[in-house]
Amino acid sequence: MSNYDVVVIGSGPGGYVSAIRCAQLGMKTALVEKYDTLGGTCLNVGCIPSKALLDSSHHFEDTQKHLEGHGIEISGEVKLNLAKMMERKSGVVAQTTKGIDFLMDKNKIEVFHGLGSFQDAHTLTISGKKEQTISGKHFIIATGSKPASLPFIKLDKKRVITSTEALSMTEVPEHLVIIGGGVIGLELGQVYRRLGAQVSVVEYMDRIIPTMDGAQSKELTKVLKKQGVKFYLSHQVQGVKTTKNKVTVTALDKKGQEVSFEGDYCLVSVGRKPYTEGLGLVKAGVGVNERGQIQVNDHLQTNIGHIYAIGDVVRGAMLAHKAEEEGVMVAELIAGQKPHINYNLIPGVVYTWPEVASVGKTEEQLKEAGVAYKSGQFPMRALGRSRASGDVDGFVKILSDAQTDELLGVHMVGARVADLIAEAVTAMEFRASAEDLARMSHAHPTYAEAVKEAALAATENRPLHI
Ligand code: FAD
Ligand code: NAD
Repeated sequence: MSNYDVVVIGSGPGGYVSAIRCAQLGMKTALVEKYDTLGGTCLNVGCIPSKALLDSSHHFEDTQKHLEGHGIEISGEVKLNLAKMMERKSGVVAQTTKGIDFLMDKNKIEVFHGLGSFQDAHTLTISGKKEQTISGKHFIIATGSKPASLPFIKLDKKRVITSTEALSMTEVPEHLVIIGGGVIGLELGQVYRRLGAQVSVVEYMDRIIPTMDGAQSKELTKVLKKQGVKFYLSHQVQGVKTTKNKVTVTALDKKGQEVSFEGDYCLVSVGRKPYTEGLGLVKAGVGVNERGQIQVNDHLQTNIGHIYAIGDVVRGAMLAHKAEEEGVMVAELIAGQKPHINYNLIPGVVYTWPEVASVGKTEEQLKEAGVAYKSGQFPMRALGRSRASGDVDGFVKILSDAQTDELLGVHMVGARVADLIAEAVTAMEFRASAEDLARMSHAHPTYAEAVKEAALAATENRPLHI
């Protein structure tokens, strides 16, 4: 039986990054993955394929609707080849997952394919093509998550689907009914809207992306409505029925009246749940909480000291970069270092167009906590860069402490804000004030100028270009 310093279970962004950091720190490391390809949800059926389809569908929509305005005329019909679009997406995924194989080889990490299952707190069997048993001084559980559903919904994965099926459709739905106006519902909803589907989003709360700043929900709703997405907010879904080619979703509207939506597909995107099936947690003595998440302390240690857990399978935001930070932190803790994660500064992004990006506290959170704050907002449409590209929707909003001016939250909607948010993360990591941001030179013309202008608005209410 081979013995390792560290055995990492699960090869998503949490697991594979953790394995690399363990190997960098000189530990003999094994990585166990139940599927044939590495990369987990994010690379195979999450971040990467969804962004590939968002990009492809964006090109399609631009070519159909926006190129003419730039003086580019297309003779003949702009046609969709969905099979080719999906093939490209699969190619992007394959290229990315192969990159992880390369990284594992480069770092001399031994990879096992098969379901890892604890026999006791130091032994793991791997049931793949041939069963193998390995032992470890330390374990890092990074088994991720699976789509959640509602108790009365049967996910048949044909008409009533999750994000996984929505990323590999063989036809564009006529009417896609989406339950849940969170990140997945909006990103994939926008993909199929652009490709020609009628899209209806049925959301339980009174706004979409309900955990983000209210101003972002409002702006994104406005823009997506303009693009033709229909929203049914404060709707409580009661049932989903399927016939051969149709799906009917029934819900109670805000007045308590029953309404129904008939579509050919229903995407259920009401969140994800931690995945620990078959892992043998009981045999290892590892505890989970009432939500099924593996219980960990501030050092991501389970109740069994040498077994750690990271990423989607533990508490906190279900984001690839959060999983990666936790993977690095655990590797460094095992190596005796003293790393730290500032969870307040893990940015959140929705990759619709315009993009939505946030870091720190929302205005709603500051109000609830009774924090005195200042707010400054600057619209993208006032920027020369936005007018040049035609991406005029959105804003940058900056919240800073009323007394000290320290940045408390930065919230953006607009072109390329997924990348712009890094400036806010850096500034907040160094505990900058809004005035610090306002006094830094931002290249002209760029979307980043909106950050400077919003900071000027927050500091002394003196933006320059509005
Ligand atoms: P996962 O990536 O889920 O990986 C877990 C791995 O463990 C899987 O490969 C699984 O097969 C394996 N495994 C499970 N049990 C066992 C076992 N017993 N033995 C062996 N292997 C096992 N996040 C972002 O930050 N940005 C995005 O743009 C983004 N887009 C997304 C789009 C979609 C459609 C979805 C569904 C998710 C998206 N996410 C995004 C979320 C992101 O994918 C997750 O937060 C991230 O993958 C979590 O990483 P992880 O390492 O914890 O787990
Ligand atoms: P989510 O938590 O983002 O959104 C779920 C939505 O469903 C919420 O708006 C919620 O109010 C709503 N909802 C819950 N129960 C409902 C009900 N009964 N009826 C109607 N609406 C209901 O979850 P998701 O969109 O499924 O995504 C899952 C996870 O994947 C998220 O945690 C997210 O962080 C991650 N993800 C991230 C990205 C990204 O970073 N760009 C992209 C996709 C997914």
